[in-house]
Amino acid sequence: RCAASAAHVAIEVVAETGSTNADLLARAATLPGPLLRIALQQTAGRGRAGRPWLSASGATLMFSLAWPFKGPLQQLVGLPLAVGVALAETLAALSVPVQLKWPNDLIKDGSKLAGILVETQAGADGRIWAVSGVGLNLLMPDALEHAIGRSVAAVPWLAQMDRNALMAQLLSRLAAALAEFDDTGFAAFSARWNRLHAHQGQEVNILDAGQVVQRGVAAGVDDSGRLLLDTARGRVEILSGDVSLRPA
Ligand code: ATP
Repeated sequence: RCAASAAHVAIEVVAETGSTNADLLARAATLPGPLLRIALQQTAGRGRAGRPWLSASGATLMFSLAWPFKGPLQQLVGLPLAVGVALAETLAALSVPVQLKWPNDLIKDGSKLAGILVETQAGADGRIWAVSGVGLNLLMPDALEHAIGRSVAAVPWLAQMDRNALMAQLLSRLAAALAEFDDTGFAAFSARWNRLHAHQGQEVNILDAGQVVQRGVAAGVDDSGRLLLDTARGRVEILSGDVSLRPA
Protein backbone atom coordinates (compact mmCIF):
# COMPACT_ATOMS: atom_id res chain seq x y z
CA ARG A 1 0.00 0.00 0.00
CA CYS A 2 1.37 3.44 -0.92
CA ALA A 3 0.62 5.60 2.08
CA ALA A 4 0.68 8.85 0.11
CA SER A 5 -2.04 7.84 -2.33
CA ALA A 6 -3.79 5.14 -0.29
CA ALA A 7 -3.75 3.05 -3.47
CA HIS A 8 -2.96 -0.64 -3.60
CA VAL A 9 -0.27 -1.29 -6.18
CA ALA A 10 0.55 -4.89 -7.06
CA ILE A 11 4.23 -5.42 -7.86
CA GLU A 12 5.94 -7.99 -10.04
CA VAL A 13 9.61 -8.37 -10.90
CA VAL A 14 11.00 -10.26 -13.89
CA ALA A 15 14.61 -10.99 -14.77
CA GLU A 16 14.15 -10.11 -18.42
CA THR A 17 11.43 -9.13 -20.84
CA GLY A 18 11.09 -7.32 -24.16
CA SER A 19 9.44 -4.17 -22.80
CA THR A 20 7.60 -3.67 -19.52
CA ASN A 21 5.35 -1.13 -21.27
CA ALA A 22 4.40 -3.65 -23.97
CA ASP A 23 3.75 -6.32 -21.32
CA LEU A 24 1.40 -4.11 -19.33
CA LEU A 25 -0.39 -2.64 -22.35
CA ALA A 26 -1.31 -6.17 -23.40
CA ARG A 27 -2.90 -6.78 -19.98
CA ALA A 28 -4.17 -3.34 -19.00
CA ALA A 29 -7.77 -3.82 -20.13
CA THR A 30 -8.22 -6.75 -17.72
CA LEU A 31 -6.18 -5.62 -14.69
CA PRO A 32 -8.08 -5.40 -11.37
CA GLY A 33 -6.01 -2.42 -10.18
CA PRO A 34 -2.67 -0.58 -10.45
CA LEU A 35 0.28 -2.81 -11.29
CA LEU A 36 4.01 -2.10 -11.20
CA ARG A 37 6.21 -4.30 -13.37
CA ILE A 38 9.95 -4.14 -12.88
CA ALA A 39 12.44 -5.76 -15.27
CA LEU A 40 16.12 -6.25 -14.50
CA GLN A 41 16.77 -6.23 -18.23
CA GLN A 42 14.78 -5.36 -21.35
CA THR A 43 15.59 -6.72 -24.79
CA ALA A 44 13.26 -4.45 -26.77
CA GLY A 45 12.92 -1.29 -24.68
CA ARG A 46 11.49 1.62 -26.58
CA GLY A 47 11.04 5.35 -26.41
CA ARG A 48 8.61 7.51 -28.33
CA ALA A 49 7.87 6.82 -31.99
CA GLY A 50 9.43 3.37 -31.69
CA ARG A 51 12.90 4.74 -30.95
CA PRO A 52 15.05 2.26 -29.01
CA TRP A 53 15.67 2.48 -25.27
CA LEU A 54 18.90 0.63 -24.53
CA SER A 55 19.92 -0.78 -21.17
CA ALA A 56 22.34 -3.11 -19.46
CA SER A 57 21.33 -5.55 -16.76
CA GLY A 58 21.93 -4.05 -13.32
CA ALA A 59 22.92 -0.66 -14.78
CA THR A 60 19.46 0.68 -15.54
CA LEU A 61 16.33 0.81 -13.41
CA MET A 62 13.38 -0.09 -15.63
CA PHE A 63 9.75 -0.28 -14.65
CA SER A 64 6.26 0.46 -15.86
CA LEU A 65 3.23 1.37 -13.80
CA ALA A 66 -0.26 0.67 -15.14
CA TRP A 67 -2.86 3.00 -13.61
CA PRO A 68 -6.57 3.56 -14.36
CA PHE A 69 -7.79 7.10 -15.10
CA LYS A 70 -11.24 8.63 -15.30
CA GLY A 71 -10.25 10.35 -18.54
CA PRO A 72 -11.07 11.81 -21.00
CA LEU A 73 -8.07 10.86 -23.10
CA GLN A 74 -7.16 14.50 -23.93
CA GLN A 75 -6.62 15.12 -20.22
CA LEU A 76 -3.71 12.67 -20.23
CA VAL A 77 -1.58 14.86 -22.51
CA GLY A 78 0.28 16.21 -19.48
CA LEU A 79 0.80 12.83 -17.83
CA PRO A 80 4.40 12.22 -19.02
CA LEU A 81 5.30 15.63 -17.58
CA ALA A 82 3.63 14.85 -14.24
CA VAL A 83 5.57 11.56 -14.11
CA GLY A 84 8.74 13.58 -14.76
CA VAL A 85 7.93 15.88 -11.84
CA ALA A 86 7.39 12.90 -9.50
CA LEU A 87 10.69 11.29 -10.52
CA ALA A 88 12.65 14.55 -10.34
CA GLU A 89 11.25 15.36 -6.88
CA THR A 90 12.15 11.85 -5.65
CA LEU A 91 15.71 12.23 -6.94
CA ALA A 92 16.00 15.73 -5.43
CA ALA A 93 15.01 14.25 -2.05
CA LEU A 94 17.93 11.82 -2.54
CA SER A 95 20.29 14.74 -3.22
CA VAL A 96 20.36 14.14 -6.99
CA PRO A 97 19.28 17.42 -8.64
CA VAL A 98 17.87 16.92 -12.14
CA GLN A 99 16.05 19.05 -14.69
CA LEU A 100 13.17 18.31 -17.03
CA LYS A 101 13.27 18.40 -20.80
CA TRP A 102 9.90 18.76 -22.50
CA PRO A 103 8.05 16.53 -22.81
CA ASN A 104 9.49 13.35 -21.34
CA ASP A 105 13.15 13.35 -20.28
CA LEU A 106 15.12 13.81 -17.07
CA ILE A 107 18.38 15.67 -17.61
CA LYS A 108 21.47 15.66 -15.41
CA ASP A 109 24.47 17.85 -16.20
CA GLY A 110 23.03 18.48 -19.68
CA SER A 111 22.61 14.80 -20.64
CA LYS A 112 19.69 12.42 -20.56
CA LEU A 113 19.46 10.51 -17.30
CA ALA A 114 16.02 8.98 -17.69
CA GLY A 115 13.30 8.62 -20.28
CA ILE A 116 9.55 8.34 -19.78
CA LEU A 117 7.10 6.71 -22.14
CA VAL A 118 3.36 6.94 -21.44
CA GLU A 119 1.05 4.77 -23.52
CA THR A 120 -2.68 4.27 -23.13
CA GLN A 121 -5.21 1.50 -23.47
CA ALA A 122 -9.01 1.58 -23.17
CA GLY A 123 -10.28 -0.63 -20.34
CA ALA A 124 -13.39 -2.81 -20.53
CA ASP A 125 -15.09 -0.63 -17.88
CA GLY A 126 -14.70 2.65 -19.80
CA ARG A 127 -11.68 3.80 -17.80
CA ILE A 128 -8.46 4.63 -19.59
CA TRP A 129 -5.36 2.78 -18.49
CA ALA A 130 -2.13 4.66 -18.79
CA VAL A 131 1.11 2.71 -18.67
CA SER A 132 3.95 4.96 -17.51
CA GLY A 133 7.31 3.43 -18.38
CA VAL A 134 10.56 4.70 -16.90
CA GLY A 135 14.18 3.91 -17.71
CA LEU A 136 16.64 5.48 -15.28
CA ASN A 137 20.40 5.12 -15.76
CA LEU A 138 22.23 4.21 -12.57
CA LEU A 139 25.49 3.16 -14.20
CA MET A 140 26.54 3.81 -17.76
CA PRO A 141 29.03 1.25 -19.04
CA ASP A 142 31.12 2.49 -21.99
CA ALA A 143 29.73 -0.21 -24.29
CA LEU A 144 26.17 0.92 -23.56
CA GLU A 145 26.95 4.60 -24.12
CA HIS A 146 28.67 3.64 -27.38
CA ALA A 147 25.57 1.71 -28.48
CA ILE A 148 23.29 4.65 -27.62
CA GLY A 149 25.58 6.86 -29.69
CA ARG A 150 25.38 10.02 -27.58
CA SER A 151 26.58 11.27 -24.26
CA VAL A 152 24.17 10.18 -21.52
CA ALA A 153 24.03 10.62 -17.75
CA ALA A 154 23.98 8.16 -14.85
CA VAL A 155 24.09 8.35 -11.04
CA PRO A 156 26.58 5.74 -9.77
CA TRP A 157 25.86 6.89 -6.24
CA LEU A 158 22.27 5.64 -6.53
CA ALA A 159 23.50 2.26 -7.81
CA GLN A 160 25.02 1.77 -4.33
CA MET A 161 21.64 2.26 -2.70
CA ASP A 162 19.41 -0.69 -1.85
CA ARG A 163 17.39 -1.23 -5.03
CA ASN A 164 14.15 -2.02 -3.17
CA ALA A 165 14.44 1.11 -1.04
CA LEU A 166 15.05 3.25 -4.13
CA MET A 167 12.12 1.67 -5.96
CA ALA A 168 9.86 2.15 -2.92
CA GLN A 169 10.60 5.88 -2.83
CA LEU A 170 10.03 6.26 -6.56
CA LEU A 171 6.78 4.28 -6.43
CA SER A 172 5.44 6.15 -3.44
CA ARG A 173 5.83 9.57 -5.12
CA LEU A 174 4.75 8.29 -8.49
CA ALA A 175 1.55 6.72 -7.15
CA ALA A 176 0.75 9.92 -5.25
CA ALA A 177 1.34 11.95 -8.43
CA LEU A 178 -0.88 9.72 -10.56
CA ALA A 179 -3.70 9.85 -8.02
CA GLU A 180 -3.39 13.66 -7.87
CA PHE A 181 -3.28 13.89 -11.66
CA ASP A 182 -6.47 11.85 -11.93
CA ASP A 183 -8.19 14.28 -9.54
CA THR A 184 -6.94 17.63 -10.76
CA GLY A 185 -5.19 17.07 -14.11
CA PHE A 186 -1.87 18.68 -14.96
CA ALA A 187 -2.71 22.07 -13.40
CA ALA A 188 -1.33 20.90 -10.02
CA PHE A 189 2.01 20.13 -11.69
CA SER A 190 2.69 23.00 -14.09
CA ALA A 191 4.47 25.30 -11.60
CA ARG A 192 6.48 22.37 -10.25
CA TRP A 193 7.45 21.39 -13.79
CA ASN A 194 8.43 24.95 -14.70
CA ARG A 195 10.75 25.22 -11.69
CA LEU A 196 12.73 22.27 -13.11
CA HIS A 197 12.62 23.26 -16.79
CA ALA A 198 16.02 22.59 -18.40
CA HIS A 199 15.53 25.00 -21.32
CA GLN A 200 13.67 27.89 -19.72
CA GLY A 201 14.41 31.11 -21.63
CA GLN A 202 16.54 29.28 -24.18
CA GLU A 203 16.10 29.27 -27.93
CA VAL A 204 14.95 25.87 -29.08
CA ASN A 205 13.83 24.09 -32.26
CA ILE A 206 10.77 21.91 -32.39
CA LEU A 207 11.25 18.97 -34.72
CA ASP A 208 8.64 16.80 -36.33
CA ALA A 209 9.98 13.69 -38.08
CA GLY A 210 13.43 15.28 -38.13
CA GLN A 211 12.23 18.57 -39.64
CA VAL A 212 12.27 21.87 -37.75
CA VAL A 213 8.66 23.04 -37.57
CA GLN A 214 9.00 25.83 -34.98
CA ARG A 215 11.78 27.89 -33.50
CA GLY A 216 11.53 30.15 -30.49
CA VAL A 217 12.34 30.82 -26.86
CA ALA A 218 11.03 28.17 -24.47
CA ALA A 219 8.78 29.79 -21.85
CA GLY A 220 7.69 26.78 -19.79
CA VAL A 221 4.48 24.79 -19.97
CA ASP A 222 0.82 25.75 -19.54
CA ASP A 223 -1.76 24.05 -17.30
CA SER A 224 -2.28 21.29 -19.90
CA GLY A 225 1.42 20.50 -20.33
CA ARG A 226 1.80 22.23 -23.69
CA LEU A 227 5.15 23.90 -24.28
CA LEU A 228 4.93 27.70 -24.60
CA LEU A 229 7.21 29.00 -27.29
CA ASP A 230 7.86 32.69 -28.01
CA THR A 231 8.46 32.83 -31.75
CA ALA A 232 9.05 35.70 -34.17
CA ARG A 233 5.30 35.63 -34.84
CA GLY A 234 4.25 35.60 -31.21
CA ARG A 235 3.54 32.94 -28.59
CA VAL A 236 2.52 29.46 -29.72
CA GLU A 237 1.60 26.35 -27.75
CA ILE A 238 3.19 23.06 -28.77
CA LEU A 239 1.35 19.79 -28.14
CA SER A 240 3.62 16.78 -27.64
CA GLY A 241 1.35 14.25 -29.36
CA ASP A 242 2.81 11.67 -27.00
CA VAL A 243 -0.49 10.14 -25.93
CA SER A 244 -2.12 7.57 -28.18
CA LEU A 245 -5.17 5.28 -27.78
CA ARG A 246 -5.17 1.62 -28.79
CA PRO A 247 -8.42 -0.30 -29.15
CA ALA A 248 -8.96 -2.85 -26.41
P1 ATP B 1 15.49 12.92 -27.53
O1 ATP B 1 16.01 12.21 -26.33
O2 ATP B 1 16.34 12.72 -28.73
O3 ATP B 1 15.16 14.34 -27.27
P2 ATP B 1 12.99 11.68 -27.07
O4 ATP B 1 12.95 12.32 -25.75
O5 ATP B 1 11.74 11.68 -27.86
O6 ATP B 1 14.13 12.28 -27.96
P3 ATP B 1 12.72 8.95 -26.64
O7 ATP B 1 12.12 8.50 -27.91
O8 ATP B 1 11.81 9.14 -25.47
O9 ATP B 1 13.57 10.22 -26.88
O10 ATP B 1 13.85 7.92 -26.19
C1 ATP B 1 14.62 7.21 -27.14
C2 ATP B 1 15.97 7.87 -27.34
O11 ATP B 1 16.69 7.91 -26.11
C3 ATP B 1 16.87 7.05 -28.29
O12 ATP B 1 16.71 7.47 -29.61
C4 ATP B 1 18.29 7.33 -27.75
O13 ATP B 1 18.84 8.48 -28.37
C5 ATP B 1 18.09 7.67 -26.30
N1 ATP B 1 18.44 6.54 -25.40
C6 ATP B 1 18.30 5.21 -25.57
N2 ATP B 1 18.68 4.53 -24.50
C7 ATP B 1 19.09 5.45 -23.58
C8 ATP B 1 19.60 5.38 -22.24
N3 ATP B 1 19.76 4.22 -21.60
N4 ATP B 1 19.91 6.55 -21.63
C9 ATP B 1 19.72 7.74 -22.23
N5 ATP B 1 19.25 7.88 -23.48
C10 ATP B 1 18.93 6.75 -24.16
